[in-house]
Amino acid sequence: MHSKNLEQKFNVKLIITDGEAKKNLSHLIEKYKISSLIWNRLYSDQSIKRDTEIKSFFKNKNIHVETFNSHLLNEPWEIQNNSGQFFKVFTPYWKTAFKVYLNKKFSYQKNSLIKSFKHNEKTKIDFLSNRSWYEKFNNYWSPGEDAALKKIETYISSHIDKYDVNRNRPDFDQTSRISPHLRFGEISPRVIVEKIQNSKKSNNAVNTYLSEIGWREFSYSLLYYSEDLSTKPINPKFKKFPWRSSKKDFALWTEGKTGIPLVDAAMSQIYEEGWMHNRLRMVVGSFLVKNLLLNWTLGEQYFQKSLLDYDEASNAAGWQWIAGCGADASPYFRVFNPVLQSEKFDPQAQFILKYIPQLKIFNSSKTVFEPYLDKKLLDSLVKEKKYVNPIVDLKESRNRALDAYQQTKS
Ligand SMILES: Cc1cc2nc3c(=O)[nH]c(=O)nc-3n(C[C@H](O)[C@H](O)[C@H](O)COP(=O)(O)OP(=O)(O)OC[C@H]3O[C@@H](n4cnc5c(N)ncnc54)[C@H](O)[C@@H]3O)c2cc1C
Repeated sequence: MHSKNLEQKFNVKLIITDGEAKKNLSHLIEKYKISSLIWNRLYSDQSIKRDTEIKSFFKNKNIHVETFNSHLLNEPWEIQNNSGQFFKVFTPYWKTAFKVYLNKKFSYQKNSLIKSFKHNEKTKIDFLSNRSWYEKFNNYWSPGEDAALKKIETYISSHIDKYDVNRNRPDFDQTSRISPHLRFGEISPRVIVEKIQNSKKSNNAVNTYLSEIGWREFSYSLLYYSEDLSTKPINPKFKKFPWRSSKKDFALWTEGKTGIPLVDAAMSQIYEEGWMHNRLRMVVGSFLVKNLLLNWTLGEQYFQKSLLDYDEASNAAGWQWIAGCGADASPYFRVFNPVLQSEKFDPQAQFILKYIPQLKIFNSSKTVFEPYLDKKLLDSLVKEKKYVNPIVDLKESRNRALDAYQQTKS
């Protein structure tokens, strides 16, 4: 059936999000006498397998099922290089992909035929259950399509022009924070692009913003074409990387108790907001896989369980990028120095002090970034259990990481 005719038949909109989909859907279909199902496609092997199975399950029950792409600008298989392969480098990927997308001349219309579906089913989310994070949810997030549209419109009219200069500053908090809405399908990247185009804004900041949407698309291409992006390094050399194993260090990292303030403040941002600034994801990621020499898949899994915007493509691709084992990845020898990152991107220590206010007793940003420089003061905090000594020496652990990398290379 043509999708337009199909749309006229719709009286529901359902989003399949969990492994219980078949059971939950069967229950809803019966209860609400649903005759058609639609959903937006997902792209990992696992999701494709699950959704194909669900599709045939319901088709066999004479329920009409149709799937669409609203999650991406282009389907991953639409973008290929001249040799008919998927792109492994971002810049040529995005040049091609954006052109292909613009040629489609997509236009967004809110579909009034799809009526919203009120039901009282409860969803149990097993998410950082040892912390009452949800109590603060409303301080940071307004779920839903209307909220997502409002957020992106305000961002485009008031903030996007400075995206290129502000986006790296966790203390400024000037990125769009649209990622959870994208994750839950509350907004499509197509709508974002169209709204930017309608604004008639065209400058370096806007192009930088669009290219970040491009990184999301690129991640999906990698997800679709790789064997298992969340566990298998794209660069096969990393299959034998000499990772350390330390449950204790990993736990201290997750709890924000490494003694490196920028890392600890960033990890605390997750507990407060369920979200972390992109610059900090790179800093904490580098600290885990390089300074602590722990396998990047541990970080990938932790983010999977704790980020509101967890995305099966961007998260895995982000971790592979940080570990240096992905496509177009940050080279392994690039170890982010959290102290230099603090000086550059949180120069007044505002972000750090928001999350670790007990460090206010240090009298300069320099000592907030490196409390161990004032040993006496740090000792007093440690004694009162208000902060901790660093779990690694940044220089020594950097050298250890570079040695491990050399070993892998040869
Ligand atoms: C280790 C690591 C893990 C990550 N895990 C996730 C994840 O689970 N989910 C997720 O959405 N993003 C992830 N990212 C990418 C990025 O950090 C977030 O998309 C961004 O911080 C979301 O905030 P924002 O909406 O304010 O972004 P903005 O800066 O306002 O960017 C707008 C949109 O562009 C996309 N985008 C921006 N940067 C990236 C990027 N580096 N890679 C892919 N897409 C990007 C996102 O969809 C984002 O919402 C990860 C990055 C790293 C380094």
